[in-house]
Amino acid sequence: MNQNANPPAASLFNVETIRRDFPILQREVHGKPLIWLDSAATAQKPQAVIDRVARYYEHENSNIHRGTHTLATGADAAYEGARAKVAAFLGAASPQEIVFVRGTTEGLNLLAAIFGETLLRPGDEILLTEAEHHANIVPWQFAAKKTGAVIRVAPVDDNGDILLEEYARLLGPRTRVVSITHISNVLGTVMPIREMTALAKRHGATVVIDGAQGVPHRRVNVREIGCDFYVFSGHKLFAPTGIGAVYGRMEKWEQLPPWQGGGNMVDKVMFENTSFAQPPKRFEAGTPAVASAVGLGAAIDYLNGIGLDAIERYETELVAYALEGLGSVGGLRLIGMPKDRGGVISFVIEGIPDLEVASALDAEGIAVRAGTHCAQPILRRFGLESSVRPSFAFYNTKAEAGALIETLHSIGARR
Ligand code: PMP
Repeated sequence: MNQNANPPAASLFNVETIRRDFPILQREVHGKPLIWLDSAATAQKPQAVIDRVARYYEHENSNIHRGTHTLATGADAAYEGARAKVAAFLGAASPQEIVFVRGTTEGLNLLAAIFGETLLRPGDEILLTEAEHHANIVPWQFAAKKTGAVIRVAPVDDNGDILLEEYARLLGPRTRVVSITHISNVLGTVMPIREMTALAKRHGATVVIDGAQGVPHRRVNVREIGCDFYVFSGHKLFAPTGIGAVYGRMEKWEQLPPWQGGGNMVDKVMFENTSFAQPPKRFEAGTPAVASAVGLGAAIDYLNGIGLDAIERYETELVAYALEGLGSVGGLRLIGMPKDRGGVISFVIEGIPDLEVASALDAEGIAVRAGTHCAQPILRRFGLESSVRPSFAFYNTKAEAGALIETLHSIGARR
C-alpha cells in the first residue's frame, strides 16, 4: 500500500495548533485544565466563529429579506451565504434545499408536523431504530397519534449495531416514513445509512436522517446517501446555539405545505386566503437567528480548512486509544461495541452511580455527561437507566483520554 495515501493520523494536523483556536480550552476548572469530553452535548467554538458573530453584531446587524437599505442587503447576503455554505457542506443540489431551523429538535418536529398533515394516514408505518434520541421519537409519536399511523422500531444487537435483516423485514408497503439516526448519541454507532436508505427506497418510503451526531464526525453527502431529508444542529458543529438546518430534496419541499405562519413565508396575504413563498422561505416564518446562521457558515469554513476526512481519521485513532484504556479500568462496563463508531463512548462502573463518576471527573476538570442522554429506550435495551458518556472531538488529545482513564482508575479503586 502507498504509505503516503494513509499517513498516521497525528500527521494530518497539529492538534496543539487547533486547540489554540478554541479559547475556552485554555480555561481551568477547579484549578485543573479543562478537559472537554462533552462535545456530543455541545461542541466548543473556535475564535473564527466567535469573531464572525461579534463582527456581525458590531458592523452588520439588520433584519433580513425586508429592507432595501445597505445593512439589510448585507445581512441578507450574509444569511444566504451561510445557506449556500450549508448546502455545499452537505452536498445538496442547491442552497434552496436548505431550510434553517433552531436545531435538530425543531427540524424533526417540522417534518413530523407536516407529514402529520399531508403524508400519513391511519395504518401507515413510521420506522425508527432502537437507538434514537427522544427528538427522533416524540415528534413521530405526536404525528402517529394525530393520524392513526403506527411506529415500528428496528432493533440493534448487543454491540449496538443495527440488525439489518430485522430492519429490512420491518419495511413494507405500509412504511411511509423511515427516520433514523446517522450516529447514536449513546453508543456511538455509525448506522449504515446508505444501505438503510436504499432498502427503504425499495418500498417508496420517505427517508429522514437525524444527523445531529453525524455532521461533526463524518463527511456527509446527502445525494450519495440518497435520503430525502437530513437534519442537524449548528451548536454540535462548533457553531452557535439557536441554528440548525434541514436539507430536503427540492421536489419534496415543493410538495409540502408550511408548518408555521407569519412574515417571510408568504407570497400574497389576504384575509380570505394567503399564498405561500417558494421553499426554503415557505418554511422559515418570522425573523431567523441571522447571527447564528452567519456563525454556522464560519464554522463550516473552519471545518473545511481542516477537512472532515482528516477529522474522521484523527478521531477514530483517538477513540480507539480511549477504548483500549477504558477496558483496563476495574468494574467498567462498556455499553455497545459498534463496528464503526463516531465520537461517543458510554460506560457504567459497577457499584458507583453514574452521577458520582461524573462529579469525581469534574473535580479533576474533566467534563463528561452522565444521565439518560435523552435516549432512554436504547439505555433500557442494555438494561440501564443511565450511563457515563465521554464524547470526543478533533480538539481532544491522547493526553486528555489518558487523564480520563487515570482518573477512572482511581475512582474505580474506591469501590
Ligand atoms: N438527535 C441526536 C442524535 C442528538 O444527539 C441530539 C442532541 N443531543 C438531538 C437529536 C437533539 O439536538 P438539539 O438538542 O440540538 O435539537
